[in-house]
Amino acid sequence: MNPDFTQQVSATVDQIRQDGLFKSERRLLTPQSAHIRTPSGEALNFCANNYLGLADHPDVISAARSALDEWGFGMASVRFICGTQELHKQLEARIAELVGTQDAILYSSCFDANGGVFEVLFEAGDAIISDELNHASIIDGVRLSKADRYRYRNRDLEDLRTQLEAAKGARRIVIVTDGVFSMDGSYAPLEGICDLADEYGALVLVDDSHAVGFVGENGRGTHEYCGVLERVDLITGTLGKALGGASGGYVAGASEVVELLRQRSRPYLFSNAVAPSVAAGSLAAIELALGGSEQRQTLRRNAELFRSLMDEAGFELLPGSHPIVPVMFPGEDGARQASQIADSMLERGVYVIAFSFPVVPRGKARIRVQLSAAHSEQDVQTCVKAFIQARDEVV
Ligand SMILES: *Cc1c(COP(=O)(O)O)cnc(C)c1O
Repeated sequence: MNPDFTQQVSATVDQIRQDGLFKSERRLLTPQSAHIRTPSGEALNFCANNYLGLADHPDVISAARSALDEWGFGMASVRFICGTQELHKQLEARIAELVGTQDAILYSSCFDANGGVFEVLFEAGDAIISDELNHASIIDGVRLSKADRYRYRNRDLEDLRTQLEAAKGARRIVIVTDGVFSMDGSYAPLEGICDLADEYGALVLVDDSHAVGFVGENGRGTHEYCGVLERVDLITGTLGKALGGASGGYVAGASEVVELLRQRSRPYLFSNAVAPSVAAGSLAAIELALGGSEQRQTLRRNAELFRSLMDEAGFELLPGSHPIVPVMFPGEDGARQASQIADSMLERGVYVIAFSFPVVPRGKARIRVQLSAAHSEQDVQTCVKAFIQARDEVV
């Protein structure tokens, strides 16, 4: 051990603590679910991305369990050496069908999918135009590409046009956006983005991690919700949220594009294949999502009920319809209020998370509530009651 090194590191961690940015991890003693148990007791969970309640669904668990018996525990190989089973091909085909593209390529995570897509498809002389609030994995993936980078203000089509003007003359231009922005629960204006892409001869890439499986009439994603199903060139997304919540990500698009990614994309080529049980469980989750209009309706109803009860109780919400519902605590004292209300709610058995600067802009502290189809009406009412009681105690 080098004592100077560990002392320096420990000073950095202390600084993180002093800045109030230290992230501690709560331990769950149960599967991920609407009702969980932690060392401090039972809790209603309103902070997982378990939108359809599939993380502990019996069909998903049993598909994963059978795959363990039939296909073994792990692949011990990357895909192109000896890591491809029937399951992986099936899963890729099913993802492509779900999101409406010709093909899809599987990664260990969406972080890897975003890390592996830009470098291959966009080179020096190309231009990548990215929404300022895009996910960290997009930012990192774009950094690996030698293309010129442009940034536009969140969901701002005027500014996007300005950046498209600035990028004119590039060989390839791609507009990159999250389908849903996770801190606000807002949708990217995909119709306007696709119109501008047509006007400027640009491509569109959407990361639909917070939408795939449950947003849109048939749960196909933000492009379905926005009426641009055929107009998005590249879609990335995760299996780690609504679609069972285990792990895995993908890039979906034209078969030629997927073929090239299989040849050149580094996180695909040099990282292990997704475990068979995870592939099988994810396949089962996609089946449930495809046939899951009932769960989508329940999810929608829960989000509407929560929004209307919170409105009535005088809380300030960011408007919208996504099951991510930010409850805002603006102003100088907002960060303290949000964090104390979240703590007080956990003592009442309701688990929500407060976010403040630098995760969200200064003065825009919030508690982000995430509804699930696994919540009952009663669960939603309990959550609202806890909000009201905690506010009375803290504010
Ligand atoms: C969650 C998320 C990711 C990361 O997905 P993983 O599969 O967990 O790596 C990437 N992009 C967006 C927009 C996300 O919300």
